[in-house]
Amino acid sequence: MSRDPLQILQSVFGYPEFRGQQSAVIDHILTRRDALVLMPTGGGKSLCYQVPALCLDGVTVVISPLIALMQNQVEALNQLGISAAALNSSHSPDEQRRVRDSLLDGSLKLLYVAPERLFANGFMDLLSSANIALFAIDEAHCVSQWGHDFRPEYLKLSVLHEHFPNVPRLALTATADDKTRKDIIERLNLHYGEIFKSGFDRPNISYHMVDKKNGFTQLVSFLRAGQEGNAGIVYCMSRKKVEETAEKLVKEGFDALPYHAGLPPDIRAANQSRFIRDEGIIVVATIAFGMGIDKPDVRFVAHLDLPKNLEAYYQETGRAGRDGLPATAWMTFGHQDIVRVRQLLGGGDSPEQQRIEYQKFSSMLTYCEALKCRRKILLEYFGETLEEDCGNCDNCLNPPEILDGTESAQLALSCIYRTGQLYGSGHIIDVLRGSDTDKVRNARHDTLPLYGQGKDLSRGEWQTLIRQLLSLDYIAADTEGYGSLSLNEKCRPLLKGEERFPIRKFKRGSKQEKSKKQEIVLSSQEETDLFNRLKALRLSLAKEQNIPPYVIFHDKTLLEMAQQKPSTLNALGDIHGIGESKKSKYGPVFLETINNP
Ligand code: ADP
Ligand code: ZN
Repeated sequence: MSRDPLQILQSVFGYPEFRGQQSAVIDHILTRRDALVLMPTGGGKSLCYQVPALCLDGVTVVISPLIALMQNQVEALNQLGISAAALNSSHSPDEQRRVRDSLLDGSLKLLYVAPERLFANGFMDLLSSANIALFAIDEAHCVSQWGHDFRPEYLKLSVLHEHFPNVPRLALTATADDKTRKDIIERLNLHYGEIFKSGFDRPNISYHMVDKKNGFTQLVSFLRAGQEGNAGIVYCMSRKKVEETAEKLVKEGFDALPYHAGLPPDIRAANQSRFIRDEGIIVVATIAFGMGIDKPDVRFVAHLDLPKNLEAYYQETGRAGRDGLPATAWMTFGHQDIVRVRQLLGGGDSPEQQRIEYQKFSSMLTYCEALKCRRKILLEYFGETLEEDCGNCDNCLNPPEILDGTESAQLALSCIYRTGQLYGSGHIIDVLRGSDTDKVRNARHDTLPLYGQGKDLSRGEWQTLIRQLLSLDYIAADTEGYGSLSLNEKCRPLLKGEERFPIRKFKRGSKQEKSKKQEIVLSSQEETDLFNRLKALRLSLAKEQNIPPYVIFHDKTLLEMAQQKPSTLNALGDIHGIGESKKSKYGPVFLETINNP
């Protein structure tokens, strides 16, 4: 077999070229030096060790905390004709013995293990008798207490270096913040390694935010406008809401399943497996779902509730569109969300921790309220600058008309103040709009000079404005009692007229928003039919082997087949994602479908 990385990429994986930093990382590893790779979710981290594994003599040991993911990777590698295996407690003694044998006789190219396994009964000794080419430490941020997923077993990985001083180590993560990065280097003793940091942009994901009215109805409209038949994830904050939403989606005719940590393990496993092995399934989930799933054709990620910080949001939305085809991140967001999340922040932790959480949540809200390109804000948060507007977020696609909301904001602030900072937004809006309610009359708020001064704005417009004041910390909402609004120090300059308050012009009615074509487009009905037949063939082949369809071919490969209609095996081999092994294994049946309409 060739030892040239590019040749391996083309002949084994069927991809024409390396992406971003892959090539540089691989060259570095082949000189047997350590490295830390920071790449966004979907950036292509796995190839950074899979290609060297095939170039180097010996076995590459991949340490990963995610058993489901290991299994998927092993299946995918086996499909490529690569000898790979995972060792975990779910395997029978027989299977474990087979893996050990292939490890020792040198036929195994990649071995996936969980960190706890690495240090269990004599495993290190076993490794010492094998010829180890490389250690790949996936999800390396698990070694850091600063990261969001600390795993104590990861701390022990520093001994790899002591036991195997000549074996290079490649640590990989999608978490990019400075503290975590320093921690990884420190704890894994990677001081002499190189750091490869890729851009964190995911240009194929389109970001959209809508004002929350009835979140569920809005979700359904979003799904009906171009997402039908697509696989996606809907995130909700509570288990109860997960179950309700999944049920309601099923009633609306969608193939939706719930997923949260409170469901029995067998149901959770079954739902996850259907999401991976069937097509077009929607999973409604709490954040417990998604880690360790590398399904490439997730077409949308929808949030019905607000995440606590941009790290979580970007990680969750990053699960969309790993295959590089168009995908959408969509979220509804309202006043109540802000109050609810603030309630949850920092419970029981140190004041310092609490301050950090508040700060992170503020950045999340700034993103939500943004009037400019959202991707610019996201990337800025992760330390990158985007020169031009992205052209693929709601603010770029439908630039908001910006009004001067200073006077309205001042009026709202005065109203909160004059009514004693004791009332929630409903009552404040009643007073502003001059509504005649019992509460208004009992409190004699109809006698205030500003009563009815805000009639020119609708309820919805006032709600949005108050939400903005809340998001941007001009006011606070009491999180314990009735959501009474009160003024924050920050509102002083605004009240004095030393600061302006720009707002987005409110859209009345439900005019269809412009959006980039998010569907996969083929140029003729004939091509679309062929694409669907190829998908059906892929699904039946996958079911026969009990593997996910995308492990056979990605959508992108089927799209190219439908467009190019190759008539020979050679021509088929030129298509994206078809290497030697898949060409001989699946080429003939796919050719038959293409050439016999
Ligand atoms: P990560 O682990 O960084 O989230 P993966 O390694 O799962 O990302 O890669 C994401 C997707 O991109 C995979 O489906 C993979 O097959 C594909 N991919 C990676 N590198 C390339 C490449 N050079 N050319 C084409 N596709 C690639
Ligand atoms: Zn943009």
